[in-house]
Amino acid sequence: MLKNNKSSDCNHCESTTCSSKERRPNESEEQFAQRQALDRNMCQIDNKLLVLSGKGGVGKSTVAANLAIALSQAGKRVGLLDIDIHGPSIPRLTGVKTGQIQMVGEELLPVKVNDNLSVMSIGFMLPNDNAPVIWRGPRKHGVIQQFLSNVIWGPLDYLVVDAPPGTGDEPMSIAQLVGSEAGAIIVTTPQELAISDVRRCVTFCEQVSLSIVGILENMSGLLCPKCGEKIDLFKRGGGMALALEMGVPFLGQIPIDPEVVMTGDAGTPLLRDGPQSAAAKAFTKVVDTIISGNKVSGKP
Ligand code: ADP
Repeated sequence: MLKNNKSSDCNHCESTTCSSKERRPNESEEQFAQRQALDRNMCQIDNKLLVLSGKGGVGKSTVAANLAIALSQAGKRVGLLDIDIHGPSIPRLTGVKTGQIQMVGEELLPVKVNDNLSVMSIGFMLPNDNAPVIWRGPRKHGVIQQFLSNVIWGPLDYLVVDAPPGTGDEPMSIAQLVGSEAGAIIVTTPQELAISDVRRCVTFCEQVSLSIVGILENMSGLLCPKCGEKIDLFKRGGGMALALEMGVPFLGQIPIDPEVVMTGDAGTPLLRDGPQSAAAKAFTKVVDTIISGNKVSGKP
C-alpha cells in the first residue's frame, strides 16, 4: 500500500535514481545543500504516513500518537513528527517534556519515547506552554523543511506526521516536501458536519498527489460503562460510508473511550496502560492493517 521510497541511485543509500546528485538549474548552493539533506534523511525512511483531518477536535493528534506508539510496540522503528505548529499536542500525548532537545553540530536529535520511537515537535522549542507561534506560511515551510532535513531520524520503518487540521500551509508544505512517497491517513468523526470536510481533504490529497492509505473513523460509538450498550453519540458509520463513496480504503473505527482521554492527558501510552480498553484493541487492529498493507473495503 505504501511506497518504499528507497530509490536505486543515491549518494546516501547507494541507489540509482536519487535526485540529490546534481544541482538543478536556478538552484542556489544553499538550496542544493538543503535538498541533499532532505533526500539523505528521507531515503532512510521506508514509509511516511501523514495524519490529516478536515476539522480540529476529531482526535487526529491522538490517533497520530497512538498509531506511532502501536507501530513501535509492534517492533517497527518509528519517528513521530508534529507539524501542528499552532497547537502542538504530541509532547503532551507522548509524555515527553519540553526542553530536551539536543543538537549535534547543526542537526537536532529527536526525543526518545521508547527504544523504537522518537519524536520532534515545535512544542519542544517554545519557551513555555502559553507561548503562541505567530508565523506566516514561508516561515512554517522553513521549519517543516528543517524538521525533515536537519533532524537525525536515522533509518526508520515509519515516519508518522501529525499535521494541523484542514488543507492550509502545513499540509501543503509536507505534501510538497515528501510528495507522492507519503500516504495520508484521514481521521474523521462519523457525523455529517465532519464528513463534509473530509471530502475536501480527499480532494486535497488527489490534487497534491498524495496517496490515501485510508479513512479512519474516530469517536465511533460509546460503550455505556453501566449496561454495555453502544450509544452512537456522534452517529456511526459516516467515515465508512464516505470511504465507499469516494473509493478510498477504510481503516477502521475507534470508539469513544474514556481511557483515551485519561492516557492522553497523562501522557502515558494507551497501548501500555490500557491495552484491554476498546480503543486500544481498535488501534491495534488498524496498525495490523497498515503493517500488512491490506486494503480494507469501505463496505459496512
Ligand atoms: P485533534 O488533533 O483532531 O484536534 P485531539 O487528538 O487533540 O484532536 O483530541 C481532542 C480530544 O478528544 C482530546 O481530549 C482527546 O483525548 C479526545 N479523544 C480523541 N479520540 C478519542 C476517543 N476515541 N475517545 C475519547 N476521547 C477521544
